[in-house]
Order: sequence, then C-alpha cells, then structure tokens
Amino acid sequence: MIEDRVHKLNKSSYRHGSLVLYWMQASQRTEENHAFELAKQEARELGIPCVVLFVLNGNYPSGNLRSFSFMLDGLRDMKSELEEQGMRFIVFKGDPVEIVPKVSKRCALVVTDAGYLRHQIDWRKRIAEELECPFLSVESNVVVPVKIASCKEEYSAATFRKKVMKHFADFVNDFEPMELRSRASPDEFEGATEIEEADLSDLDRSVSIISGFRGGQKEAKRKLEIFLSKNLDRFEEERNDPNSGCLSEMSPFLHFGHISPSYIASRVIDSGSKGKDAYIEELVVRRELSMNFVYYNTKYDSFEALPKWAQKTLNEHRNDKRAPSYSLSELESGETDDPYWNAAQKEMTLTGKMHGYMRMYWGKKLLEWSRDPESAIGTAIYLNDKYELDGRDPNGYAGILWCFGKHDRAWSERKIFGKVRYMNSHGLKRKFDIDSYVRRINNLSFDRK
Ligand SMILES: Cc1cc2nc3c(=O)[nH]c(=O)nc-3n(C[C@H](O)[C@H](O)[C@H](O)COP(=O)(O)OP(=O)(O)OC[C@H]3O[C@@H](n4cnc5c(N)ncnc54)[C@H](O)[C@@H]3O)c2cc1C
Repeated sequence: MIEDRVHKLNKSSYRHGSLVLYWMQASQRTEENHAFELAKQEARELGIPCVVLFVLNGNYPSGNLRSFSFMLDGLRDMKSELEEQGMRFIVFKGDPVEIVPKVSKRCALVVTDAGYLRHQIDWRKRIAEELECPFLSVESNVVVPVKIASCKEEYSAATFRKKVMKHFADFVNDFEPMELRSRASPDEFEGATEIEEADLSDLDRSVSIISGFRGGQKEAKRKLEIFLSKNLDRFEEERNDPNSGCLSEMSPFLHFGHISPSYIASRVIDSGSKGKDAYIEELVVRRELSMNFVYYNTKYDSFEALPKWAQKTLNEHRNDKRAPSYSLSELESGETDDPYWNAAQKEMTLTGKMHGYMRMYWGKKLLEWSRDPESAIGTAIYLNDKYELDGRDPNGYAGILWCFGKHDRAWSERKIFGKVRYMNSHGLKRKFDIDSYVRRINNLSFDRK
C-alpha cells in the first residue's frame, strides 16, 4: 500500500543523476518512515547512494529555542544512526525553498515526506517548480493517507470515524523495512554545516528549553513502552484527570515525526489492553480529523474556519459584556483571578505540555475573557504555538477551534458563548481534584537550562 501514500509533485521523469535525495522535513526519524524507505528503495534500484538532507530554518513559523532544542535532540541521534547505516546526513541552515533545489542539482530523484499546514504545502509546491528531476512526497505521519480517509472536510469525529477506520487495518501495518547499507555519497555539499555548528543566532530565545523532556525517536519509543506497560490499561477511565499521569505524552514526538503513528497504533493494538480502543480514538480518529481539517480548510487558524452555526451564534453574542478582560502579558504569566486557568498556563510555560483536559478549559476561558472571538483565537494560537512542545501542529489549530465550536454541536444558549459548549470550574471540581493539580503546578520550579 505504500503507493497509496506517494504523491508526484512535478511532471519530470528524467532520472539521471548520481544520488537519490531524501529531504526530511515532517517525518524526522529513520524508523518506520515510508518516505525514507522509498528513497532507499529507489537508490538501490538505480544503484546510486541515498543522501538525507535536513534544512534548519531559524525562521520556522513560531519556532523558538524550546521547540528547536527538542528537534535537535532528534537530529543528533539520527546523524549517528544514519552514519551506522553507511548513509550521508547533510544539514543546511536557511530556507528550504532555496536549499533543496540547490542541493538537488545532481539528483536522479528527490523524495520528501508530507506536511498538511499551509507553509509546508507551499514549500513543496515552490520546490517542485524548481526541480528538474522527479519529486515525490510520501505520507508517513498519518495511519490513513488524508485523501483516502476522506475527499472533503469532515464535519465532526462522528462523520469521520467510520471513514478513517474503514481503512485502518489496510494501512496500520503497511510498512516493510528494507536493509540498505548505502554507499556513502562521495559528493561535496558546499555550504553544509554540522548540527552543533549551525548558526541559530536568529532564533527566538525567549522561551526556555525543557531539560527534562528530551526529543528523538529512541526517547519516543522508550516513553511509549512505559505507557504501554504502566498506563494504557488506565487510559479510558483516567485520561481526563490531570493528576493521574496516565497520558502517553506522544504529542511532541508525533509533531516532529520522531515516531510513526502507525507504529504506535500497532503496538497499542497488539498490547490487547482494555485501553486500546479509547487510545486509537484519540490517536487515529481525533488526530487524523485534525489533518483532514487543515488540509481541506486553508483558513484553519481563523474564525472563518468555524462551522456556520458557530459563527452565527458567536456573532450574535459579539456585544455581550466581557468581564474581566486581561492583557496578553497577564495571561502569558498566568496572573488572572482564576487559579485553575493560571495553573494550566503555568503547566504549559514550565513543562512545555499542558494536560489535554485543561487545554479545553484554558481555551474556553479565553473566549469568555477576550474582547471578541477573533482575538481569543489569536491569543490561544499565540500562546499554544509559543510554549507547547507539540504546538504549531494541525492538532493545535483543530483543538483551539474546537473551543469555539469546530467539530462540535450546538448546546443551550448562554451569554458570550451563545450555543458554543461552555465549561466552568464546577466541571473541573466534579471530575477530579483540581486543587491538588493547582498545588502540584505551583510547586513546579523553573526547569531552565
Ligand atoms: C485548546 C487545545 C489546544 C491543543 N493543542 C494541541 C497541540 O498544539 N498539539 C497537539 O498535538 N494537540 C493539541 N491538542 C489536542 C490534545 O490536547 C493533545 O494532543 C494531547 O493532550 C497530547 O497529549 P498526549 O500525547 O499525552 O495525549 P494522549 O491522550 O496520550 O493521546 C495520544 C495521542 O492522540 C492524539 N490526541 C489526543 N487527544 C487529541 C485531541 N483532542 N485532538 C486530536 N488529537 C488528539 C495526540 O496525537 C496524542 O499524542 C489541543 C487541544 C485543545 C483543546
């Protein structure tokens, strides 16, 4: 089924060159990576080396020291793994739209992975216009390729579930690794840099590194094994309790492509755990609904991406009195009158990962406190993308817009929210010991490097 994951990005069929290039962008791993595997297979067939290219882009949208540091953990691990496989790993600093075509001059073929956000799609399109050799992209960060799951934007998980799960069994185990000890390319790549030596002085350094949360495929698999053995059984009942510590913590790794969702899904299914269905619902149905959303709705980070009923009801309540109203800096430093919201905000700024249940409350409160829904969405995206290790992700835009009615249904009418689902602190108190959560977060120290 790998051919169902492959998309031809240009019309070229000219395949005379001295190497196959894998431009690694969204799937930053060597294992269970369909794009890398295709590049290796093609290199073997053509009898030429396969080279892996990574472009460090200091201007990556909302990229900063925290997210880069997590990503660099993965790149460092990968360099040694690729060298063990006899393969060249070259790193350039700059804009991929300039660098990929420059490096590809001697290529018979360029393969890349797939990304669903606007800038990722745009990079691939612009690079395709420049390349003289064939350029393929391979979807390896979803279990079911986006267009196979559905040919249109889905309304909700209820409409998407059946469609994606119909193909789940066909794709979850479709990865066949090949052993390839490629000839290392003897080529010189002028302008390439070492990861450690890359000049990242233009990077936003205002957000601290999370030293207790390391990136990379080895770490992702280590954490997954802990989750499978200790927490998956409890997942269904306890996942909404931030004190239970039973979540998988896979989202930052999935965001950088340090681990394959198909690999996680097959390990979860094979575990036979009673938590497996609840977990697959999150990992496959909810997560891939987010990919469906951003792929088919290019306004995914704005009010316009909300369903008509949500736009209408929020417009009708536009002039409702909002009190209190906080400044961005009060919000950013968690200084509101709501101790629960402040704790959630601090969990995000200090640990790089807010618990999933608190994210919903956090987003809903921004709607309640902001002067209009557009500024609430803007603030939520700004904070989420800046501090969450898993931010800047389709799941982030879908999760934030969910707080404003996306993928949800209309509820009973109330002020500010209109028919959009409301959440308040009584709900938190009913579901778990929120005060214990607040105490734990307030005891966290700044884990800065
Ligand atoms: C306001 C808001 C903002 C969010 N921002 C992000 C974000 O920036 N990046 C991000 O990856 N997720 C985001 N989510 C979705 C969800 O909260 C996180 O994916 C989850 O908390 C990640 O923790 P985990 O990996 O331990 O999750 P687990 O509960 O262990 O779930 C396993 C995997 O399933 C997927 N998943 C779980 N819950 C959801 C969900 N509600 N929607 C889609 N996929 C889900 C994730 O890929 C996750 O890694 C957001 C949700 C909301 C309401």
